[in-house]
Amino acid sequence: MSDYQLIIIGSGPAGTAAAGQAARLGLHTAVIENDKPGGTCLNRGCIPTKALLHVSGLVSDFKREQAHGILEGEAAVNPGRLFAYKDEICEKLSGQVEASFRTAKVDLIRGKAVLLPGNRVRVGERILTAQDVILAAGSVPVIPPIPGMDLPEVMTSEEILKGTDALPSSLVIIGGGVIGIEFATFYSDLGVHVTILEGMDRILPTLDREISQNLARILKKRGVTICTKAMVTRCEGGSGSPVTVRFKTGEEEQSVTCGNVLCAVGRKPAAEGLLNEDLQKELRMDGRRIAVDEYFRTSVPHVYAVGDLSSKIQLAHAASAQGTACVNHIAGKPSVYTADAVPSCIFTKPEIAAVGLDEQTAKDAGIPAAAGRAVLFSNARTVLATDERCFMKVIAGREDHRILGAQLMCGRSSEIISEITEAIVNGLTVEQMLAVIRPHPTFHEALTDALRDLAGKLG
Ligand code: NAD
Repeated sequence: MSDYQLIIIGSGPAGTAAAGQAARLGLHTAVIENDKPGGTCLNRGCIPTKALLHVSGLVSDFKREQAHGILEGEAAVNPGRLFAYKDEICEKLSGQVEASFRTAKVDLIRGKAVLLPGNRVRVGERILTAQDVILAAGSVPVIPPIPGMDLPEVMTSEEILKGTDALPSSLVIIGGGVIGIEFATFYSDLGVHVTILEGMDRILPTLDREISQNLARILKKRGVTICTKAMVTRCEGGSGSPVTVRFKTGEEEQSVTCGNVLCAVGRKPAAEGLLNEDLQKELRMDGRRIAVDEYFRTSVPHVYAVGDLSSKIQLAHAASAQGTACVNHIAGKPSVYTADAVPSCIFTKPEIAAVGLDEQTAKDAGIPAAAGRAVLFSNARTVLATDERCFMKVIAGREDHRILGAQLMCGRSSEIISEITEAIVNGLTVEQMLAVIRPHPTFHEALTDALRDLAGKLG
């Protein structure tokens, strides 16, 4: 007899969703967590970042209405209090994760888990056994092998999120990906001069080109300096003095001096030390990720891996969906995870959201597709809320008119994208989506304009 039917290592979105589903299906389950419940997303990632962006967004809105002469005075931010507020939000939500385990009768065991052969899990002095084990230990920031990364002024997103009583005098961000862009938005809205050094030819290089270009224009207008094709070679100085970041653009050597550096060049699976040496040899890897099949099975029998440990898509909601699907498989239920319809959202101003295929990817893959678009110049909510260019693009198959993807850059796009995701998952056509009446006045109603444009192109 095992101690548990299921042991889950890690309580981030993947582990929490897996535990919830296991409880619903009546599996005797334990979650092992070394840190605060909720994982990276809740404690060191999405949620603290959104707490900061919520406040910096208010400051940016205030400045806009001040320029219109509507609001007067100063939007002064107390950084110490802001970071404390962020901590309060995270503590509260982490407490709710813990409470949800109690309600579901899932045992939360504190400590660092190491998986041993025979589905045994060591936690401190204890050895626990389980019929099945799900590894859901998440990811950690990548630190590139560049001299100077250990300077106290050079931080990862997890370190910078801890916050201080004062904002940086200026900030260099290495990496113009999702994390880099969200921090650039936060700090520039609070008046910190930000320089982004991105190795590729554009910021957000994996997204639709129009999104990158529009965002670069918006950030530059807010005073952010963007250097692309910039490969950082070293960081010097620091330890109480300004830091000089040296980088190359082609053959040209350049440098920028700043108060702090944020290194945001990606995250890697936190697979180190998770399995003992014998088991590690049995575990098949896919680069840095743990290799899994469509049911999240690893090469070790009865051991599964979900979330950032095994997934190409490092997103909290993808991890939750994987956790749920994995438990369904373990319990012998139908297991569905739709990897090609995972929306991604970036909490810039305006927000960015994308799902499925973009025009270029469809073209490169030889998929006959058309794109419809709407620029939101005459969308009343957009005109009320922002002076920036906002747009929506929707892609559909030329033959069957089914929705294939969308790229949105507008207010509330992180919410609107779910309608497109639903359409992709359920195979809806442009015509079916056009039958929907969207309320006025909303950002959302512009989707009807993009769909009409698309219908016109499909003929
Ligand atoms: P990322 O992969 O999104 O971006 C890293 C960027 O750094 C890339 O653009 C890359 O070209 C660049 N880069 C890499 N090495 C470099 C170097 N030496 N010099 C200059 N540029 C370099 O990674 P991230 O922004 O660190 O985010 C990590 C993960 O977390 C991502 O998968 C992301 O999707 C996820 N995340 C998502 C959200 C969200 O959905 N809102 C928010 C934060 C993080």
